[in-house]
Amino acid sequence: MEEIKILHLYPDMLNLYGDRGNVQALKYRAEKRGINVIIDYYYLGGEAPDFSQYDIVFSGGGADSEQALVANDMLKYKEQIKKAIDEGVFFLLVCGSYQLFGKYYKGVEGDMIPGLEIFDYYTEAIPDRKKRCIGDIIIEVDLDGIKTKVIGYENHAGQTQNVEKPFGIVLCGQGNTFGAQQEGFMRKNVIATYIHGTLLSKNPEITDYIIQYALERKYGEKVELEKLDDAFEEKAREQLLNRYLNKR
Ligand code: GLN
Repeated sequence: MEEIKILHLYPDMLNLYGDRGNVQALKYRAEKRGINVIIDYYYLGGEAPDFSQYDIVFSGGGADSEQALVANDMLKYKEQIKKAIDEGVFFLLVCGSYQLFGKYYKGVEGDMIPGLEIFDYYTEAIPDRKKRCIGDIIIEVDLDGIKTKVIGYENHAGQTQNVEKPFGIVLCGQGNTFGAQQEGFMRKNVIATYIHGTLLSKNPEITDYIIQYALERKYGEKVELEKLDDAFEEKAREQLLNRYLNKR
């Protein structure tokens, strides 16, 4: 039986807007195909995880105060995390975690939170507390040559600059900075995004992309995932796309 091992980082501290739902969505769609899913959790100050033995690592978003605590802890694992990314482990990073993998995050009060500096982008929050990128967002993503629309929700003060390759192009909403055309950061085995908890449940194609990637890497052969009945998901997506794209 095929198996996927997922490591969920700081599930109690980085879980804004139900970010943990992304791990549940991966498990749900993998298990529907008879793939066994093992989920391990790492909590602040816990025993050091062996990042390289996982297929997928997930880390969610958090408020600035939690981000500062997590950053100090995460920095201990900088080299192991970098090694796992270089080896091809898939990393899904949402909002605060997206920011932490860059050079730094400068908070609303000007406080500096160091990043892992694995990627070259950096983030600075807008000093005006009332000014945040909040609301529904739709981006167009290119998954190995196949274009798909990703629907979600964003809520961040941070403005991320110097992104080498974005996750998608903004059709509705803000993205990496106010009025940006680009959202998130992507590499073959990394998706870093401001799109919160709803990401993988609302966008099954992204979920399947990650599952397929993880299986192909692990078993070293081309994988064709069995089609699932996504009639409800497609209906919901159609409604949301109509609602958000036609409101402009
Ligand atoms: N504190 C960060 C910001 O406001 C991240 C918030 C989040 O994860 N939603 O940009």
